[in-house]
Amino acid sequence: MAESRIPGRAAPRGMTHHLLDYEAARRTFTWENARIALTGGSDPRLNIAYEAIDRRVQRGYGVWLAARFIDRAGNRLDITYSQLQSRCNRFANALRSLEIPRGAPVATLLGRSAELFTVALGTLKAGNVFCPLFSAFGPEPLKTRLALGHIQVLVTSGAFYRRKVAGIRAALGALRHVLIVREDPHEELPEGTTDFAELMRQASDSYETAPTHDTDVALLHFTSGTTGMPKGVTLTHAAVIAQHATSELVLDLHPQEVFWCTADPGWVTGIAYGMIGPLTCGVTLIVDQEEFDPQRWYRILAEERVNVWYTAPTAIRMLMKAGLELTRAHRYPELRLMASVGEPLNAEAVLWGVEAFGQPFHDTWWQTETGAIMIANFPACGVVPGSMGRAVPGIEAAVLRRTERGVQVVSSPEEVGEIGLRPGWPSMFSGYLDNPERYRASFHDGWYLAGDLARRDRDGYFWFIGRADDVIKSAGHLISPFELESALMQHPAVAQAAVIGIPDPIAGEAVKAFVELKSAVAPDEALRSAILGHARRLLGAAVAPREIAFSEALPRTRSGKIMRRLLRARELGLPEGDLSTLEGRP
Ligand code: ATP
Ligand code: MG
Repeated sequence: MAESRIPGRAAPRGMTHHLLDYEAARRTFTWENARIALTGGSDPRLNIAYEAIDRRVQRGYGVWLAARFIDRAGNRLDITYSQLQSRCNRFANALRSLEIPRGAPVATLLGRSAELFTVALGTLKAGNVFCPLFSAFGPEPLKTRLALGHIQVLVTSGAFYRRKVAGIRAALGALRHVLIVREDPHEELPEGTTDFAELMRQASDSYETAPTHDTDVALLHFTSGTTGMPKGVTLTHAAVIAQHATSELVLDLHPQEVFWCTADPGWVTGIAYGMIGPLTCGVTLIVDQEEFDPQRWYRILAEERVNVWYTAPTAIRMLMKAGLELTRAHRYPELRLMASVGEPLNAEAVLWGVEAFGQPFHDTWWQTETGAIMIANFPACGVVPGSMGRAVPGIEAAVLRRTERGVQVVSSPEEVGEIGLRPGWPSMFSGYLDNPERYRASFHDGWYLAGDLARRDRDGYFWFIGRADDVIKSAGHLISPFELESALMQHPAVAQAAVIGIPDPIAGEAVKAFVELKSAVAPDEALRSAILGHARRLLGAAVAPREIAFSEALPRTRSGKIMRRLLRARELGLPEGDLSTLEGRP
């Protein structure tokens, strides 16, 4: 295995990777020590916002840039750690002035703005629960989430309020206050709402952090809805321990570095690594308020001198689709680490990183439920293309087989099973909102079962097979959607691919593939047979797709994941299920 590793970029002179020797780190790492390393002591209190901001200020980072917000026109808004601290203090005081009790949930429906950061961290500081809502949601998904979360305060813009919230407000019994972030001071305030800026002006900028503890609920995140109805997942203040440790061990963040996490704060990645973990490392966050655009992204990477970049496979594949000329319009001498999460990262995409940036993408695996990265390719260890990497120090991860009597750890490197994690890491979810049975059912024989299938090779590297719900069984074989899709994406004309199983009277299931072509490639019958031939050559006739359909845009969640369940439902004429997270929906 070692020979197929691709080295990442070396740490710059004067800097050492946080993790140099993986085996040694696994042996010596403990979560108790990680807690002490973060907090500097054994105070029983723990608060995410305190660790992310106040402790940084205390340690002398006050004048450093915490975040740079870039608006559509390219204007920048810079905020230091001290400025972020006073904004958060004001918001925490504002919550008290509204008589919102500690522990009550506060949500945002905002773009990627400084106010979102203020509300998120101010809420945590006040000991309230923060719930980010993705800003492109329409009224129905908002109603479901606001109601399920028993949200008491919502911070949003006037435009979002009028378009999406006013009409559902009557149905939201728990919602006591709506605070409006006005775009300009002359904008009229909708009836029944409060001016955010005015409330902030009246509030004091000093606030003593609420005495929260490790087990207090801090965050409420809704999952992506890739496999079904989105679930409300709660994380506690202890999550910051794992988010900090992984920001060091996996993302290798060092104080004052420039870090860009492209995930929207509406999803767990955008909060855990777009905000909390990196701030605890004292970096400067880049927050782009515009949507994905290849030229803009390359410009940001170069002009902002991004050191570490955390993005997603869909974005990487869209950059690949846009062509290398765009990449080469800039140089990226400061960029020293590129990582990915959210979907399987095919080897082709990892290797494209080497061609485009002189370094591979480092895949990482985790879920909303795990609260932090669990499996990763580590910067100093080299990347194994196509593999998600190894368990993070402090995490016991295994491939499990479900049997009638419980679950067993799979020892053969060939056998596919479900990813299992031993509970005990600090960012493990504390519940599914209003669904304790489902929470209990996620644990068996002392393991949390993640619902993803994988193999684990002799060196401890995990290889993603597919979601348990997406795996195809054909003629007695278990077919990995990821393997098939990766093979299809090796064809030069294919940009993205998704496969599903369709019923077949003989094989049980047969494979149907949907492919999105690269820009400037026209779909025709000759190309269809060429791709089929390519797939058969690589995979063998038994496994290769029987059918290939061209698709202009595969259905994706708003967080960029392919919704195979929707492709399957449409193919088979079945009900489409919950579509609240489908991209492009109002
Ligand atoms: P839902 O649970 O509502 O269906 P979701 O699982 O997509 O949605 P998230 O918690 O945002 O919601 O995503 C976690 C999932 O994303 C993982 O369980 C896994 O299936 C997928 N994933 C994340 N990282 C990787 C990766 N590196 N390789 C493969 N899959 C990944
Ligand atoms: Mg999930």
